[in-house]
Amino acid sequence: MDVLPDTILEYLQNNVSDSLSPACLRVDADGCIETWSGAIDNYALAALSKGIDVASVIPAVVGLEQVELPVVFSLVNLSASSIVNLHVLPRREHEGFYVLLLDAQEEHDSMQRYQQKANEVQLLNTRLNKVLKQLRATQTELEQKKAEAEEASRLKSRFIASMSHEFRTPLTSILGYTEMLQKGMLDARQNFSATHAISSGAQHLMSLIDNVLDQARFEAGEMELNLETIDLVAVVADIQAMFQPLARQKGLDFIVEGNEELVCWVKTDGMRLRQLMINLCNNAVKYTDEGEVRLVYHCECYGDTGQFDFVVKDTGPGIAKEEQAAIFNAFHRVKSQSDKAGAGLGLAISRQILELMGGGLSLDSELGRGSEFTLTLPVELAVESPSSVTHAAKTAADLSHKTILLAEDNEDVVEVVELFLQSADYDVIVAETGQKAFELAMQHEPALVLMDMNMPIKDGYTATQELRAEGFKQPILALTASSSPQDRQRAIEAGCNSYLLKPIAMNELLAKVMEYVKSE
Ligand code: ADP
Repeated sequence: MDVLPDTILEYLQNNVSDSLSPACLRVDADGCIETWSGAIDNYALAALSKGIDVASVIPAVVGLEQVELPVVFSLVNLSASSIVNLHVLPRREHEGFYVLLLDAQEEHDSMQRYQQKANEVQLLNTRLNKVLKQLRATQTELEQKKAEAEEASRLKSRFIASMSHEFRTPLTSILGYTEMLQKGMLDARQNFSATHAISSGAQHLMSLIDNVLDQARFEAGEMELNLETIDLVAVVADIQAMFQPLARQKGLDFIVEGNEELVCWVKTDGMRLRQLMINLCNNAVKYTDEGEVRLVYHCECYGDTGQFDFVVKDTGPGIAKEEQAAIFNAFHRVKSQSDKAGAGLGLAISRQILELMGGGLSLDSELGRGSEFTLTLPVELAVESPSSVTHAAKTAADLSHKTILLAEDNEDVVEVVELFLQSADYDVIVAETGQKAFELAMQHEPALVLMDMNMPIKDGYTATQELRAEGFKQPILALTASSSPQDRQRAIEAGCNSYLLKPIAMNELLAKVMEYVKSE
């Protein structure tokens, strides 16, 4: 190798070498210090003196007396304040060795700084990985939400299409028959089937609207229960009375098994429980073309609580395993059964209602072998039967010619309700506004007021409040199109005794009017 030019050597000598503060110890063959030179003071070697064992001053060199080739120790901690690169170089003729000390504090500090940076980079990397992981999770979640939103939108589009069909079909028959009735085109027998078709079409529309509203209530988290005291066995009997004729019309057997002798009064939401049972029975009859539909119910009591089980078994087409979870999702329908009317809401709503009631709905089915839906409901046993039983026992015999004030602004509703009330021998006076209702009630003191809550000039809530403030004592029944428990509560708080939900079933209206007029 060529010798470096003098200028370079001189430069190295003056700069690099000076910055390293070289110091040298000459050590004899026994390891004792003979002499030293260079910047030895920089290294603060305690008790440095000639003749002592070098290892007592610099422990790193122990056992290197016979070293034959240079040995280098990097970054040796020589004392509390100095870090050195330590070179041990053999002397000629085995005379001992030199210990060369080169200041490595700067190198050590910069290594430390480097290490610190490396640690910081590693830390940043860890944080970055964490953020990336979170980003990936968020991305997966977003993709999932997007898929769910797309599925929901697809189902809703399908729902709108099927709703349009579901609404138009009964409306076609309602409008068609109405037109025929208006034109007097039908004989007495046809009149009867026309009114029957109109009524069942309207009921179908009503249940569709109820289902859509229920689903919307669940989606908005606004579904609430309305507890009342009911006889479970009587409810089952109602369901049987409702479905037996429908099943027979289709040529199906409709069998009910259960502990009929039991009178099981419980506190639950009777309207919702009926709705659940109707959904299950309606499906069983709708989807079964031959064989039977069987209801099995059982009520087990433990102290003041109990469990009600209601099973609906059919011999219909059954449901494939892979479809079984999905049919409880809103708007989902099994493709092969889409020829039957339906919106795919009944089971979704039923399961949500049951969960709200603390119960459950399960399915056991096999394609081609029928289906079995089991409703399980924990119930609180009631000690007394409700007062409505006593009311139900009352007769209409002595109710004739009582005056009912009907406060309602819709002429069609007025006409129908007036006709029904008159056919039951009531005298009817009509008010089209809340203000008029207030005046007529104060003037005529009717036996009962049917008060529409939504009227012009003065609504039913205000009219009722004012009547009560004036000391009007007769019963006021609210007529409302809102099924929300808050609105019903508002009507009661305004001073109504009870309420009727529109569309009003005329039998229900008469029963309620009779109940309140009689109980006065
Ligand atoms: P809908 O009957 O109005 O379509 P549901 O939510 O009640 O809505 O039912 C969802 C789907 O589950 C139905 O479309 C039908 O495919 C299937 N299903 C429900 N009950 C039965 C049953 N008893 N037998 C066969 N399939 C049924």
